[in-house]
Amino acid sequence: MSKGPEEAIITGISRESCSNVSELPRVDRVALRADLSELRQNLGQAALTSLVRAAIDRARDDLLKDPAKPAPSADVVADMVRSLATEAFAPRARRVINATGVLLHTNLGRAPLSQRASAAVSATMEGYCSIELDLATGKRGKRGAFMEAALSQLTGSESAVVVNNCAAAVLLLLATVARGRPVIVSRGELVEIGGGFRVPDVMAESGAKLVEVGTTNKTRVADYERALDAHPDTAAILRVHPGNFRQIGFVERPALADLAALAKARNVSLLKDLGGGALVELADAGFPGEPMVESAIRAGVNAVTFSTDKVLGGPQGGAIVGDEAIVGRVRKHPLIRAFRLGRLPMVALEATLESYLAGSAWSDVPTLAMARVDLASLRTRAEALVRALSARGVTVRVAETQAEMGGGSLAGRSIPSIGVVVSVADHDSAGAFVAHLREHRLPVIGRVDPSGVVLDLRTVAPRDDEGLGDAVTLSWQRV
Ligand SMILES: *Cc1c(COP(=O)(O)O)cnc(C)c1O
Repeated sequence: MSKGPEEAIITGISRESCSNVSELPRVDRVALRADLSELRQNLGQAALTSLVRAAIDRARDDLLKDPAKPAPSADVVADMVRSLATEAFAPRARRVINATGVLLHTNLGRAPLSQRASAAVSATMEGYCSIELDLATGKRGKRGAFMEAALSQLTGSESAVVVNNCAAAVLLLLATVARGRPVIVSRGELVEIGGGFRVPDVMAESGAKLVEVGTTNKTRVADYERALDAHPDTAAILRVHPGNFRQIGFVERPALADLAALAKARNVSLLKDLGGGALVELADAGFPGEPMVESAIRAGVNAVTFSTDKVLGGPQGGAIVGDEAIVGRVRKHPLIRAFRLGRLPMVALEATLESYLAGSAWSDVPTLAMARVDLASLRTRAEALVRALSARGVTVRVAETQAEMGGGSLAGRSIPSIGVVVSVADHDSAGAFVAHLREHRLPVIGRVDPSGVVLDLRTVAPRDDEGLGDAVTLSWQRV
């Protein structure tokens, strides 16, 4: 692990004689211990042996640094092996209860899948599936045909293609439309989305040449016109929807339709990176200001990119919808294969889009359903939880909270929500309390605020209320 065998032997010969290194337990002895049988079963003997070797290497380094130290016993080394195993193998993705009130939590996998989507995934996961076979003809079928037809239908666009995230969609779109040519972007839209996605950097990678216009707060149609005059070989105007921050005050941007008219007159493409992919009007759930994909298409945008795991509420994916003249070229780009959507997210996305087509998205898709849950039913659940927890000695009360969309969408907008607040002695114990909640069998993610530990129920499925209560009870007993 840390050293090659030769190096280990050389340091061993020169320095081991003056320390307790020779008393270290032997690798094979520790590796065969009965009290490590669970690790052996879960990780296999080979991985366990390398962990033992790493633990003994670490112990040897310690002894060489401090020759007076006694060598650790086999019991202690076995314990070190267990903690190394936790360090290396425990951070697996596990189901958690999201009590943060952030509907699309980037660290928690963004959108939770609908029952319809997860049933479709498990039904196709265990066997083979007809992903590229036309069952009618027995010939090779078009991968993703349903998902693309559904997206075109739902957004009113001619054509659609889906890749594995929106960052890939933007990169591919620019590489297809504008490689080696200028693309005009407002200075107010040269944003960082998070996770290292910066518009200027992605443009550079695509081979497009960035032409900045306007200022941070104001960009007018005339700014774009001047840039088009100065760069007659311009391929496109790119609009970026800044979903994760909001400018207020002295700000101005042209209407999309005006830019579309300009792009058409000058024979360049108008592209829009929307980020969120609203297929329904989110203002209906108290979240105004998230543009619908359909309205961008209707305003005359030639190609729109968006994530399928943000406000759309599906699995990770990135869509490009718009004119067949552009989307058809994207589909033939040599890099499309490198970015293609996997089988499991494709099945999940198809099932999610089915809910939209059927008109049942508001009840099926968890992100949308949670956004619309009424305060009265949240309050009823919170009261039941408070009753159960108080009976177990927990100091807790119902609290009014604010839930957010998250996931880089609708910054600064929140909707009223209800949760519970657990009162703890001080800020440090609140920190310890949320840490214990995360260590629970079914981890609960909450947050600390001045009133205590806040657990928002809007993002918790009602079937998880009991698990939430159990985790709170156990954490209460530990602080
Ligand atoms: C979120 C976002 C992206 C990146 O989407 P991913 O699906 O996370 O790759 C790109 N552009 C905008 C405007 C976004 O909001």
